[in-house]
Amino acid sequence: MSSGAVEAARNILTRLHEVMASRSHAQAKLNNVVEVIGESLDSEVCSIYLLREGMLELFATRGLAQEAVHVTRMAVGEGLVGTIAEDIEMLNLAEATAHPDFSYRPETGEEKFHSFAGVPIVRRERAVGVLCVQHVDPRRYEEIEIEALQTVAMVLSELIVNADLIDEDAAQGPSVGQTGPEQIHGLTLVKGLASGFAVYHQPRVTIEHVVAEDTEAERQRVIMAFERMREQIERMSREAEFGVGGEHEEVLETYKMFAYDEGWTRRINEAIESGLTAEAAIERVQQRTRMRMRQIDDPLLADRMHDLEDLSNRLLRIVSGQIGTAAQFGLKRDAILIARNLGPAELLEYDRRRLKGVILEEGSLTSHVVIVARAMGVPVLGRMRGMRGIVREGDPLLLDADQATLSVRPSQGIIDAFEHRFARSRERQATYAALRDVQPVSLDGERVTVMINAGLRDDITNLSLTGADGIGLFRTEFQFLVSATLPARERQTRLYRDVMEAAGDKPVVFRTVDIGGDKTLPYLRHDGGEEENPAMGWRALRVALERDGLLKVQARALLEAAAGRTLNVMFPLVSEPWEFDAAKAVFDGQLAFLRSRKKKMPEQVRYGAMLEVPALAEQLDAMASRISFLSVGTNDLTQFLFAADRSNPKLAARYDWLSIAIMRFLRRVVVNLKGTEIDLTVCGEMGGRQLEALALLGLGFTRLSITLASVGPIKELVRMVSVREIREAMLQWLASPPPNLRVALIEWAAERGMQLD
Ligand code: PEP
Ligand code: MG
Repeated sequence: MSSGAVEAARNILTRLHEVMASRSHAQAKLNNVVEVIGESLDSEVCSIYLLREGMLELFATRGLAQEAVHVTRMAVGEGLVGTIAEDIEMLNLAEATAHPDFSYRPETGEEKFHSFAGVPIVRRERAVGVLCVQHVDPRRYEEIEIEALQTVAMVLSELIVNADLIDEDAAQGPSVGQTGPEQIHGLTLVKGLASGFAVYHQPRVTIEHVVAEDTEAERQRVIMAFERMREQIERMSREAEFGVGGEHEEVLETYKMFAYDEGWTRRINEAIESGLTAEAAIERVQQRTRMRMRQIDDPLLADRMHDLEDLSNRLLRIVSGQIGTAAQFGLKRDAILIARNLGPAELLEYDRRRLKGVILEEGSLTSHVVIVARAMGVPVLGRMRGMRGIVREGDPLLLDADQATLSVRPSQGIIDAFEHRFARSRERQATYAALRDVQPVSLDGERVTVMINAGLRDDITNLSLTGADGIGLFRTEFQFLVSATLPARERQTRLYRDVMEAAGDKPVVFRTVDIGGDKTLPYLRHDGGEEENPAMGWRALRVALERDGLLKVQARALLEAAAGRTLNVMFPLVSEPWEFDAAKAVFDGQLAFLRSRKKKMPEQVRYGAMLEVPALAEQLDAMASRISFLSVGTNDLTQFLFAADRSNPKLAARYDWLSIAIMRFLRRVVVNLKGTEIDLTVCGEMGGRQLEALALLGLGFTRLSITLASVGPIKELVRMVSVREIREAMLQWLASPPPNLRVALIEWAAERGMQLD
């Protein structure tokens, strides 16, 4: 803002402050406001339109016919006033009648005025009214006048809400549409369709007070907030709390650049100088930047603006003390959650009945938050940058993760098409549900074992719904992630017992806690020091062996829960046989203890390991005598094979699970275990995808443990395929690789009438 603009805004604000502090009636205040603004800007007309019952109603005017007050009403999108409200954009015109949206209202007597400038009055990102000025002379208003109008519009939004002049519901309801319907594309992380209203994980701050009582105090608040924000950013760079992956560095650099940007702080201070509170000043500067940026068409800059937007919101949250997430406020209706990134525990805080879908600005296929969402049956789209610029809180959204699109503020045509697809998807679900009692037997008679991956209490009921052969991977750490404190042994026992009871005769494989990496527990001290590569660091069995108290408690809980039954225990991230031995020894110790106490013992304990670390594949001969089963965790295994962090969004689509390298590796594992009694299963996400599962059958795997939603599609696949044929084809491809194995598999399937994706 120029010093002239600061001065102009300050003068108006001082006078408005007096008006607002007066004891007069709201209508009288508005009448005064239009006088003050008209006089200060030397404008013949000043009018305020407010949204009432969905229409913009003339509430007060200086210069137009008084008979028009509460009579002239415009629809959103109608005339200049309606256009400003719809676009949430100011208009500044030398000749109003020349604008294509001009709509003449004879009752106002406005024909003699030529110039027109109007700004939206915004509340919670929605236009709740319009403030405009008109002048006889055809002239464009100066920038400082527009600035002053915009500042005044902010003040008005406070007055309007405090005086109950508008329907708060109108301000919260579906968006009046800044840009109308829009479709954006992302990366499918969890398939599915969902409709709901936009909810930001970190809600935008509501600004309660706009006009400052004490400018110096506001200045101090901003200084403190900047200090805290800078501290947070410094901490983020030290601890990488922000998320893992390559983009994070880049984003932090931009954050730092903005956090120390003198221009930004100066503009905020100027806005405070003009009489605004710290919150209003931050927002005002942000509005202005947003407006300017809309005129610049540079995707790179747009990305950076998104970071500034993020930071501005962070600053607002600090200064206003509004730091809760949307989960803490509770979901009021069907919601599509939008977040830059989320931890699995954060996702689990949401009400599952209302959480219909998730949009991540980053995100990758095998990050744990995505696995949790998949387990919850919630579709997820990732890599959706710049959401704040497109979607406002409360906007209606249609998420079609099958086609990787999000429809924002959809038109009726899009809604109809979506409903159609939704109905088809439900039909497909019904077909899959009908497969519940059908055995997954291939065309040539191979019975494939199809189990589910689980971890949440609600998964228990799902087992019977899908008719799966058991739970091939029960991720016990999920109970730790949803809990605010370390789950006591009794709680662990109860969960494990309930799971086994629900499973009945079907096996359940309990994997001991796999924490660390991207699954951190706030209540558990992390002894791994600062880690540059947490996925390869102090996690899973490594933590459990060191903190053997944790493993002991879990072992006791599992053994007690399995009294009289078979217990299947699996250790995660085994890298060397001795780690397996050490973990088993903890169980042996607890078994001896229970025996000495004459407790009822499990009928049998079977031990297994996850194959996630490539090194273990070189010691399968040593492992063979130790284990009853081996489960290939392809999520971790492939990240280590390709040296590609599974949570890094930049790498999310870079390497294909259907690469020859992975296929050859997995084939060797199958060959090395041939002739042993060891059950070999794949329990990573790839087993749940039809094409990948086809490849795994070709490699010789006959046991899959997959996400719940995949059971139907995988059973369907197995029943369409001849295992002998795909094995022959796969062996040939392994010997002389086709240019693209995925394409080869698609063609192979298509030749046999199978449409796989
Ligand atoms: C895996 O790594 O493939 C796996 C199944 O374990 P998680 O995804 O829980 O790390
Ligand atoms: Mg793993």
